Amino acid sequence: MHQPTLPARSIDAYAAVTDRERLDRLRSLAGALSDVRVLHVNSTAVGGGVAELLRSIVPVSNDLGVDADWLVMDADDEFFEVTKAMHNGLQGADTSLTEEMKATYRAVNERNAAEIEGEYDLVVIHDPQPLGSIDRLRERLPDAPIVWRCHIDLTDPAPAHLAFVSDYVARVDHAIFSRSAYGAPIEMPAASVVYPSIDPLAAKNRALDDDTVAAACDRLDPLSFDAPVVTQVSRFDPWKDQFGTLEIFRRAREQVPSLQLALVGSMAGDDPEGLAIYERVAREAVAEPDVYVLTDLPDATVNVLQRRSDVVVQKSIREGFGLVVSEALWKRTPVVGSNVGGIPLQIEDGHTGYLVEPDDVARAGDHVVELLQDEERLASFGTNARERVRERFLLPRQLADQLAIYVEVLD
Ligand code: UDP
Repeated sequence: MHQPTLPARSIDAYAAVTDRERLDRLRSLAGALSDVRVLHVNSTAVGGGVAELLRSIVPVSNDLGVDADWLVMDADDEFFEVTKAMHNGLQGADTSLTEEMKATYRAVNERNAAEIEGEYDLVVIHDPQPLGSIDRLRERLPDAPIVWRCHIDLTDPAPAHLAFVSDYVARVDHAIFSRSAYGAPIEMPAASVVYPSIDPLAAKNRALDDDTVAAACDRLDPLSFDAPVVTQVSRFDPWKDQFGTLEIFRRAREQVPSLQLALVGSMAGDDPEGLAIYERVAREAVAEPDVYVLTDLPDATVNVLQRRSDVVVQKSIREGFGLVVSEALWKRTPVVGSNVGGIPLQIEDGHTGYLVEPDDVARAGDHVVELLQDEERLASFGTNARERVRERFLLPRQLADQLAIYVEVLD
């Protein structure tokens, strides 16, 4: 296990972006937990929404006086191939789960759990990868309730994967999902829903000075914001469907010939599929003018792209939540997204963007064109979008919801 380096965060700084009542509620919940130590465990420090969330939630929690540590599992590709197969199986793909895979999962979890030192009053396990640590954690910290924070969509899981994970989930004290339907197939002692959130103060989301914007634009050259730009930011993953995004772009370009597409992606540390999918996307895009496949961009550059693009697309087939949607909406960029998972929680159809069925690339293309051809609509959707995210999807709201669950679980 290792502990990632975290940025400094002060709760006071959030007064600039969120209302006072919300911060008061957060402080009061934190006051009730001032002698509590929380341990978060997940499987990657970089790439993907969970790492993004923890990077901000953990330092803010500490600033509020609720001690929190974040430990990341150490594992090799063999383990991550197993857990990616589990992730895909739990989201509905027909991936196998052999006895050998189960043994790898158990052994790596055992080894990591044995390294946990220190005293904690509550443990939060993120996603299925570290769930196999539960028995060791119980031995080490017999009085600490264990919460499972599930960030993925479990509504239509492959039975073998569901059975394997259910065995562990039955033994946690409480589970947290991003939508109520996600937990339905699993029996567990208690469950809650908490919507994820973005950190408005992170380099990915905060307002940027002119020099930073100019440097990011230089880095993105020859992509240019003088012509229209559509962007999708996603890990290279079968569920994110970059090929569908390319198809939407091709259709929209028939009406808007100067259109450019940025497909921004990264390789998460726990996702061995990423490179192969990136190579397939890059191969397909190379034949396509004005398509830019961009990897491992710094956060400020992702920020500039989400901010300066005319429209963001999120063409997922499954999506636990999709922080990238709120990231774009917060920057006043309308989003055309699939009507799956957490995306419809974030996009209000015809108000902050458009929702389309995941196989309807023609309709998605039409909506992109409608937005590109109507500056007034772009601007009003952008204003609505910012307010929607301010109201529902900023960090202080999520942290307060989580702390309320900790209070309940520790009662
Ligand atoms: N992300 C990034 N660079 C990339 C691709 C993704 O910084 O090239 C970030 C993105 O901005 C977001 C997170 O990774 O904060 C992805 O979270 P999301 O919930 O959208 O999807 P997940 O990857 O967890 O399925």
